[in-house]
Amino acid sequence: MKNVIVCSPKSLPREQLFAAAKTAVAINPLNHAPLARLASLMPSFRPTREHLAVVTTKYWGLKGVKLTVGFMDHPPADLRKRILLHMNAWASSANVKFAETKTDPQVRIAREGGNDGGYWSYVGTDITHIPKSQQTMNLEAFTMNTPESEFHRVVRHETGHTLGFPHEHMRAALVAKIDPEKAIEYFMRTQGWSEDEVRAQVLTPIEEGTLMGTVADPQSIMCYQIPGEITKDGKPIVGGRDIDRLDFSFAASIYPKKTAKPAPKSAPMAKKAKAGKR
Ligand SMILES: [Zn+2]
Repeated sequence: MKNVIVCSPKSLPREQLFAAAKTAVAINPLNHAPLARLASLMPSFRPTREHLAVVTTKYWGLKGVKLTVGFMDHPPADLRKRILLHMNAWASSANVKFAETKTDPQVRIAREGGNDGGYWSYVGTDITHIPKSQQTMNLEAFTMNTPESEFHRVVRHETGHTLGFPHEHMRAALVAKIDPEKAIEYFMRTQGWSEDEVRAQVLTPIEEGTLMGTVADPQSIMCYQIPGEITKDGKPIVGGRDIDRLDFSFAASIYPKKTAKPAPKSAPMAKKAKAGKR
């Protein structure tokens, strides 16, 4: 398999974890939900502040996502338009809108190479913690000559992170297919990562509680492309090359469009409350 550039979603520095978790819950109280669920399953569970910060999700909220986008390095108008078009591909199922602006953009895109290069984005509400002088998403060396397939695979994937979606392959079921020794050798060689970085990025499953989907989807746009040379069975995990059906429906469940009928959950609860009063 050709050497594909894989994404490493950016995490905020450790000392900002708690502030970022606070922000996530202030923007969207539902970001608390997974932990509440965990606590109800395990009454003796006493999470530390660190647990709390790590399992807090970073979604923008049921009202949907409206973010402004700016570019740090003056790409031509046709390229800016093309990137925006692929970011807004998520809008076909979800209440999501990215609009370009020259003033104070919330999503800031650069095409930097070198140490901070590659393809990456901060995750969801974490982007609000990035200094305005820095990009929140990096699309190294993207130009109008970049193949259309890369706009689908990379721009839509990084936009998924901006929407708050984590890496799909980090789920335990997919991580279990990767040979740790081979993976460490492979990512050290191809990405220049340290062993610790490979363990953190590729070999550590996300806590299931932080995910809202039900089954691991190896075709998800949010999955890495894992070459067969590092899997235990020698078969590649064919990462998503585009937003697939499950991605679209997951996005629609996190950011439902206003036209969709809200689930009629409030009525039975109201009845219960009344019954309780009697
Ligand atoms: Zn990624």
